[in-house]
Amino acid sequence: MADPIHVILDPGHGGPTEWGYTTTGFDEKTTNLVLAKKIQTILESKDDFEVVLSRIGDFPVTLNDRRKTANQYNKSIFISIHSSTYDKEPHVYTYVLKQVPATSASILTPIESAHSLQYKNSVKFAQILEEEFPENMNHEIVMAPFPLASLIGIQSPAILVECACVSSNATSSEANLEEFSRNIAEGIDRIAGKVY
Ligand SMILES: [Zn+2]
Repeated sequence: MADPIHVILDPGHGGPTEWGYTTTGFDEKTTNLVLAKKIQTILESKDDFEVVLSRIGDFPVTLNDRRKTANQYNKSIFISIHSSTYDKEPHVYTYVLKQVPATSASILTPIESAHSLQYKNSVKFAQILEEEFPENMNHEIVMAPFPLASLIGIQSPAILVECACVSSNATSSEANLEEFSRNIAEGIDRIAGKVY
């Protein structure tokens, strides 16, 4: 493949201090990595992608290093992966970094129009991903009303998913992990054909 699409999977947190969201029996940093590796396996079986993980083990990775990993390819898609527990039903939130308003509505500088395209494609990515989750599952797209550090400075279509996929009463959620990974991989597959 001459110029493959690079899918950057960004498992949040990692290392001795960055656990992410934790409760008894739940450890976010590990779940994020499990999800990323499952998504990687599915995508690599499709042959169209080069998959890159911004974190491959339990160690800290700075946001700047994650950003550098993301921005080194011509054609890429970025997805930051976070997880949490649920009480009643699994659900998912998909975050897009809110667009910085352009200085003028009609005349955009090249940098602004690049940002604008990146933003539109990120929204499209969030919408496509949302369609992959079953209708009876609560899912929502959130235009991050605050600067979402994980997405700032990413040049490709970029979203952050918060997967509430592990039951808070710590029953096995293996089936949920499989389903979330499949849905996310399918969303990545579909957006890839639309932006590159
Ligand atoms: Zn997190």
